[in-house]
Amino acid sequence: MKNQKTLLQKGKSQEEVLNELHELKKLDLDWKKGRAFSMVYYLGEKELELMLQAYKMFMSENALNPGAFKSLKKMEKDLVYTAASLMGDPEILKGTFTSGGTESILLAVKSARDYALKKNPNIKPEMVIPLSAHPAFDKAGHYFGIKVIHAPLNDKYQVDVKELKSLVNSNTVLIVGSAPSYPHGIIDPIEELSEFAVEKNLWLHVDACVGGMILPFMEMLGYEIPSFDFRLEGVCSMSMDLHKYGYVSKGASIVLYKNKALKRNQYFVYGGWNGGLYGSAGVLGTRSGGNIAAAWALMNHIGIEGYKDIVKTVVETTQTIIKEIQHIPELQIIGEPVTTVLAFTSDKLDVYEIADELSEKGWLLDRQQNPPSLHLTVNFIHKDYVQDFMNDLKEAVKKTKQFKFSHVTNTLLKNVTKTAVKVLPEKIVSKITENVTKITSGGGLPQKTAPMYGMIAQLNNQKDIEEMILDILEGMDD
Ligand SMILES: *Cc1c(COP(=O)(O)O)cnc(C)c1O
Repeated sequence: MKNQKTLLQKGKSQEEVLNELHELKKLDLDWKKGRAFSMVYYLGEKELELMLQAYKMFMSENALNPGAFKSLKKMEKDLVYTAASLMGDPEILKGTFTSGGTESILLAVKSARDYALKKNPNIKPEMVIPLSAHPAFDKAGHYFGIKVIHAPLNDKYQVDVKELKSLVNSNTVLIVGSAPSYPHGIIDPIEELSEFAVEKNLWLHVDACVGGMILPFMEMLGYEIPSFDFRLEGVCSMSMDLHKYGYVSKGASIVLYKNKALKRNQYFVYGGWNGGLYGSAGVLGTRSGGNIAAAWALMNHIGIEGYKDIVKTVVETTQTIIKEIQHIPELQIIGEPVTTVLAFTSDKLDVYEIADELSEKGWLLDRQQNPPSLHLTVNFIHKDYVQDFMNDLKEAVKKTKQFKFSHVTNTLLKNVTKTAVKVLPEKIVSKITENVTKITSGGGLPQKTAPMYGMIAQLNNQKDIEEMILDILEGMDD
């Protein structure tokens, strides 16, 4: 990039750099106006202000060494105990405050692996996870040398338990269920998974990253919720994010274990360093106290009654959106989402073109695949923007139905890829996809993504798709 900054010879004034940041912010989507259906969870200005105050007070404190700052240790303990009290008996459950869902999952997977290896050092660790499970599990498998096996979904978009069972063998160190899954907002049959885990003495992780701060409050409000937490005997660990539906600023999640003995597998210790004895619970080393204080402040401010009110509002908002989408004949909701996460597909239109139309109006929805669908994580702020969104969605559907040049190029690209995949050697197909990626993305995140997704749909080789993702990631750094 031509105008990238090196460290300036002579620094600018504070006012100048702040002005530049304000300019940069104008490049971003307007999540305060409910435009983000993922990425940002927003209650309001007062809550942001509270977290800012708390963050400022502790941002320089370091949670690296749990003994160094008693304040942080106390707040972390409170947060873990609070999370545990929503999922089971906080006197028995043990856990750690982490930087996010990914870290919570990495830690749980590492613990399950080490627990299994202690019992039997000769196994080659594998885990069986639903196809819809978060890629953080695949990342954990990649980092920790665990083979990841994906179990297919049933027609309700839950993991097919029968299939999952058939994929378990003596190397299996972990099975996973989501409550709910991120892509479709569907809760896996955790109770059945738990029974199987007990029977086979397997470690079951329940990923409640997105649902952990929704489901307990829905249950309190009287909604019918399937069992998913430590009340089920087979559940050994859980992940729940505070920086999603806890509305805490980013860098806040909790990993929980059924008991102290299971959590013991999580720690890393090294006694031979010149710098002294080293032990750490999480993946990170140095950690800001800011996140911890912000989480502690907001959660203590909102309390159970507050979260119940918020959850009620968001569940009702979601149900309104679902009903309205059901009234659009071209669109179909995927499965029967019970929380505040959902996806819709279309049997007539290219949903990626609908997403491109919505992007032009400033909305951000995740584009998903198998089946092509668009994803909505509904949060508190959306209560004020349901009609804006529905109007733009209806308009986007209408436009997608009309004839457009981009429609033709999209179809053309799909057909070119389809033919290329059939007739050309793999190497050449890879080269073509690489070039098309460059053209549609121009080095960076593609503005119009429908052509790219259309093309991906024609590639049945996952390696080609992964190469294409790598090209895009590299392009964003250049
Ligand atoms: C968000 C999410 C994760 C990953 O969490 P990060 O905070 O993005 O690292 C894992 N699982 C599910 C179900 C999620 O929704």
